[in-house]
Amino acid sequence: MNDIEARIVQLNQRLKEYGHAYYVLDQPLVADGVYDQLMQELIALETANPSLIFPDSPTQRVGGQVLPGFTKVTHDTRMLSLGNAFNEQDLREFDRKIREQLGTVNYVCELKIDGLAISLKYVDGLLVQGATRGDGTTGELITENLKTIYAIPLRLKEPITIEVRGEAYMPKSSFLRLNEQRLANEEEPFANPRNAAAGSLRQLDPKVAAKRHLSTFIYGVGGDTESYGIASHSEMLAYLAEQGLPINDTSRRCAHIEDVLAFITEWTEKRDDLAYEIDGIVIKVDRYDQQEELGYTAKSPRFAIAYKFPAQEVATTLLAIDLTVGRTGVVTPTAILAPVQVAGTTVQRASLHNEDLIKEKDIRIGDRVIIRKAGDIIPQVVDVILAERPADSVPYEMPACCPVCASELVRIEGEVALRCVNPKCFAQIAESIKHYVSRNAMNIDGCATRSCVSK
Ligand SMILES: [Zn+2]
Repeated sequence: MNDIEARIVQLNQRLKEYGHAYYVLDQPLVADGVYDQLMQELIALETANPSLIFPDSPTQRVGGQVLPGFTKVTHDTRMLSLGNAFNEQDLREFDRKIREQLGTVNYVCELKIDGLAISLKYVDGLLVQGATRGDGTTGELITENLKTIYAIPLRLKEPITIEVRGEAYMPKSSFLRLNEQRLANEEEPFANPRNAAAGSLRQLDPKVAAKRHLSTFIYGVGGDTESYGIASHSEMLAYLAEQGLPINDTSRRCAHIEDVLAFITEWTEKRDDLAYEIDGIVIKVDRYDQQEELGYTAKSPRFAIAYKFPAQEVATTLLAIDLTVGRTGVVTPTAILAPVQVAGTTVQRASLHNEDLIKEKDIRIGDRVIIRKAGDIIPQVVDVILAERPADSVPYEMPACCPVCASELVRIEGEVALRCVNPKCFAQIAESIKHYVSRNAMNIDGCATRSCVSK
């Protein structure tokens, strides 16, 4: 091994170690700048010596080509979905049936991450394939996009061959940043982190996925568990963590259903503090031999169940539709609502996205509408209760004129939004000034942006 090769091997090892500490353990070992510097050095050495680019080099995460389309892939063993529990009674029933058959059992409770189910295949320790769950039997090959997720190791600690399963998700912070950018570019914001994660992983260009800052938790293995000499789910999670895979550290072993219920109560209260969205709690019988004994129904395993948090949706009355004009003249409708409590906060305004949603759902002023709010996400109008529609209601018409300058609104070919195209429109000038002094542009401190604008 010459000096260059030795340095490349060393850089590979260091960057992997630092990456694992940062993305998986959440305990950075070095400053971001140090990491970037080593990465730049490795990129330079590899560019000069392409024969020394290892398949699991950290530079290979975003090296994938733009794909013409996605290839379907059949899972070796089906990726089953779990049966659902919606309340304490469902959970006690699940527990009663299991104890009837097995006597005593231990359960493992895990947070149910609200993302996209994925499968990762490692051969001799190297990541060779990543796929979506799809319908459980057939998924889509998204290996290059999954490689852009830094929490996913390109090589495991040991040269084992294994298929692991987990959830790819978008952290709340990435989601908020992404939607801010999209709104600034006047692109449609994503409705929630799950949609944003799914949309990112279905990008044909891995460079787009790389910019979306997704993450992953692994929660199990596909196929036979016997060959690993591991007797329970909780031991398997520990084993997968040893292999360098990202495992959620909140899972808890519970000896009684009362402990399971306590775990659920605890996380129902703490869920908004998490850096990612969860939509429930997964409860599994811990021991593999007991899982085997319980077996499966046609659709799902009998040894596990998913408790779903109550929906964060409520009904309220749509009082008015407020129209705002943005910097480039785009007119955005916002729902003004009779104040209502959703997910612990009072909601009086909700997003209607654009005119198409209003038309598609035939949303009318005076309607009873369904509002959804989850975590930090902007509340949204998701549906109309047609049965409660007032007899005298009329379809909503977007105005023909700008609500600020009264000039005629136009719809630009191929765009969803209506625009005011009057260059002297006060709303647009004011929004431009606001944008100019904002952090994204000039970052002028102390300018009272609000007083610049009066609408
Ligand atoms: Zn205008």
